[in-house]
Amino acid sequence: MKRRDFIKKAGAGSLLAGSVLVSACKGKSQAEVKPAAVAKTDKPLEWKMVTTWPKNFPGLGTGANFLAEQIEAMSGGRIKVKVYGAGELVPAFEIFDAVSSGTAQMGHGSAYYWKGKNEALQFFSTVPFGLTADEMNAWLHHGGGLELWTEAYAPFGLVPMAAGNTGVQMAGWFNKEINSVDDLKGLKMRIPGLGGEVLKRAGGTPVNLPGGELFTAMQSGTIDATEWVNPYNDLAFGFHKVAKLYYYPGWHEPGTTLECMVNKQAFDALPADLQSIVRNAARVANANMLSEYIARNNDALEKLVNEHQVDVRKLPDDVINSLRALSDEVTSELAAKNEQARKIYDSYKSFREKVIKWQNVSERAYLEARG
Ligand code: CA
Repeated sequence: MKRRDFIKKAGAGSLLAGSVLVSACKGKSQAEVKPAAVAKTDKPLEWKMVTTWPKNFPGLGTGANFLAEQIEAMSGGRIKVKVYGAGELVPAFEIFDAVSSGTAQMGHGSAYYWKGKNEALQFFSTVPFGLTADEMNAWLHHGGGLELWTEAYAPFGLVPMAAGNTGVQMAGWFNKEINSVDDLKGLKMRIPGLGGEVLKRAGGTPVNLPGGELFTAMQSGTIDATEWVNPYNDLAFGFHKVAKLYYYPGWHEPGTTLECMVNKQAFDALPADLQSIVRNAARVANANMLSEYIARNNDALEKLVNEHQVDVRKLPDDVINSLRALSDEVTSELAAKNEQARKIYDSYKSFREKVIKWQNVSERAYLEARG
């Protein structure tokens, strides 16, 4: 959409401006109502969105672009959002501070990148053997999760929203077979969040690097293995050129939430309709990303297997069982040492217990029935 179209749309005015005019003009004909005059005096807000993703990276970067486009379109151009890729305005892992300080009004990333601020924040990305994408969205939007997230980000002057989900990820790319949990010992692997803590407990060395640095780190041997997202995203980075084995399932990231964080001062200064627009644009972006991944992963997986001869393997059951036991230890211990983490974990855990019962007779039963 062109700039002048936004301005023309902005002429339709906000709901508030429209209703004031309607009541002021009661009894007059429609032709005499000129709502355009009100909105034209409002200068569009020009916001910056910093991201942890390479600019326009499929799914993640384009998901951030989509969110910015939705905010502009839904607000009729009253908010314009310029998206910055990792390193364009600030480095990937500095976006939290950049939005917190107001250098940018918005950020797009994932909460587990900020565990250095507070380890409790990791629950808002994903938890090993935790909630799937649908379940995570249910917990956030109908199970009290978003309220807890809002509370956790408030001290940093940030308002969080879910703004994307990857669905179940892949376990990652390896150059050696993983036949037992002992094969993870000494392995230097890029794996963020609580999954990284689990790997550490299994004897590996977790490393966290922004996505844009992974290919080179694999190629140079700085790391032995890496996980990233799923076939659609992993194909885009070309990991098949630096690793032979591609394991599943992504036990460590069963439904990772991508976030939109907004500087609280900037958000609070918005009129109620624009606040609602930002929140609802994030809800649309949240759903859209998951749909896109589910649609694109199919072809990408086929391409990896058929064109690039990637060896796709399932992690052995005993490896999964060991990792599940270690994951329980890691999450319970985090909850025991951090008061805020305990509060979030209690909510997450009780939701997980309840949803599993329902999922067993719905999604899981159906998937097994479908075969
Ligand atoms: Ca990942």
